[in-house]
Amino acid sequence: MTCEHCGSNISPDGTSCPQCGFEIPKPSASKKSAKVVPFRPRKKARRPVPSKKRPPTPTFFWWFIAILAAAIVLPYIVPMHP
Ligand SMILES: [Zn+2]
Repeated sequence: MTCEHCGSNISPDGTSCPQCGFEIPKPSASKKSAKVVPFRPRKKARRPVPSKKRPPTPTFFWWFIAILAAAIVLPYIVPMHP
């Protein structure tokens, strides 16, 4: 690595020239300053919400109805008193 100002050798870790004091721009910093667009995954287009939105059927409700109906109807169907 040579100084851009005076051309003397500088250690690669040096931040400035020991001969003239010329500040060496860090290669990593310069790279960082370069426009590095971070990869951003494109937001997936939202899936259209299915318009068929059935209200959730309460299963227990139907079970209740079925049991109630059975309780009402069964005594008539099944003869309790032989
Ligand atoms: Zn120098």
